[in-house]
Amino acid sequence: MLNLKTVCVVVMAMAVAGCASHNAGPETRAAHRPNVVLIVADDMGYADAGFQGSTDIPTPHLDRIAREGVRLTDAYVTFPVCGPSRAGFITGRHQDRFGSSVNPTIDPTVPNGVPASELMISEMLKEAGYRTMAVGKWHLGTYEGLRPLDRGFDEFFGFLSGGHDYFADRYTLQDLSEVRKRWDWYRTKLLHNDERIEAEGYLTDLLSDAAVEFIAREHEADPYFVYLAYNAPHTPMQATDEYLARFNHIENKDRRTYAAMMAAMDDGIGRVLEAIDQRNDAANTLVVFFSDNGGARNNASRNTPLRGYKSDPFEGGVRVPYIMRWPVAIAPGTVYERPVSTMDVAGTVAAAIDRPTSGKPLDGVDLIPYLGSRRVDDPHDAIFWRWHRDGRFAVRAGDLKLIAYDDSSRPAMLFDLATDPSERRNLLSGEDANDQTRADANRLRELANAWISELVPPAYPGLGSWMPR
Ligand code: CA
Repeated sequence: MLNLKTVCVVVMAMAVAGCASHNAGPETRAAHRPNVVLIVADDMGYADAGFQGSTDIPTPHLDRIAREGVRLTDAYVTFPVCGPSRAGFITGRHQDRFGSSVNPTIDPTVPNGVPASELMISEMLKEAGYRTMAVGKWHLGTYEGLRPLDRGFDEFFGFLSGGHDYFADRYTLQDLSEVRKRWDWYRTKLLHNDERIEAEGYLTDLLSDAAVEFIAREHEADPYFVYLAYNAPHTPMQATDEYLARFNHIENKDRRTYAAMMAAMDDGIGRVLEAIDQRNDAANTLVVFFSDNGGARNNASRNTPLRGYKSDPFEGGVRVPYIMRWPVAIAPGTVYERPVSTMDVAGTVAAAIDRPTSGKPLDGVDLIPYLGSRRVDDPHDAIFWRWHRDGRFAVRAGDLKLIAYDDSSRPAMLFDLATDPSERRNLLSGEDANDQTRADANRLRELANAWISELVPPAYPGLGSWMPR
């Protein structure tokens, strides 16, 4: 691994940003406000990238981000499904603090998204003078006032619902008002800003094109923020023949399609990186990539060696692939193994632009001091998850993780993730149970109870509750 001095030399050689930013405080960094490119995958498996050790799905462009930046091995989303997870990372505050606890319905007549009283990263950056664009899956509110252009984005290209068909010739509905049955919302025409457009081609490519086009506008000044939210590799399982042909060696049809969908996304990310290079922006651009939750049971993803899938409280539901690149602030080839949150993107960005800490406190923290070893403690005392419907919670503090119910008479599970990342050995049952493990479980329960007391109930109905008229 290169040391920091080498990084400075490299950065100086690129003559893009001062080496001082590496060691100096936020003041200096704010003088060189980074571009921010936040790329999110949907339902991608923990094991399914080259940088995560995958052998059947090569992801050379994602691997480049990891190689030139940091791979965070123990990175968590705030909930193991799309909507709440996105509400958490886009605000940097846990979504249960403001009721965005379930996947919102796509009913455009109900106030069903992140409330306007919460500040999104886009609003933070817009206020700081960034030009901003959201591309792809929104899923943060279809209601007037909660859509991308209402939330600090200058521009939007994509769709408002939580998923979408991939082939544009299937987009036969003008908008959500024409939806008559479940999943029809996957076939609306795409939106460019407020306008429904006719499109041709494969959705993942179209989203990559839109992000590249925005970054590549030479006449536009820095800094910029691009939120590129692919719906790949979420169902429906649809890939182009060109990409499927790359994976003829994979026998299982769903796995082959999943691999092809991943490859299209990875190629698109390669083009985004190239667009950043073309502007000579690489050194001072924070590029972040993660999945919004763990791999799902229905898309042939793999979360090996983690237990469980999307929706589960186990690591396979909540721990995700997570990489960041920001050459002036993060040494290349860094591997960081302490627990972090996707909410930390907002914390890192807030520090990068030297945003005053007044206003609602963020749950996300600035990761840069931790990645650079200036801080050796854990970024978070604990990381929490909440399931309102059945009164369940999970908490990780240090390497211990408790999954339990509010009703303490119901069976709970305690795992030591340092020795048992696959969560196979419940320390509260059988011969592993003892006074110490019970005391540990009680300590974690108390942490969770204190956190839960700060939360509010879900503010709107879930996706399953809406039947089209
Ligand atoms: Ca998802």
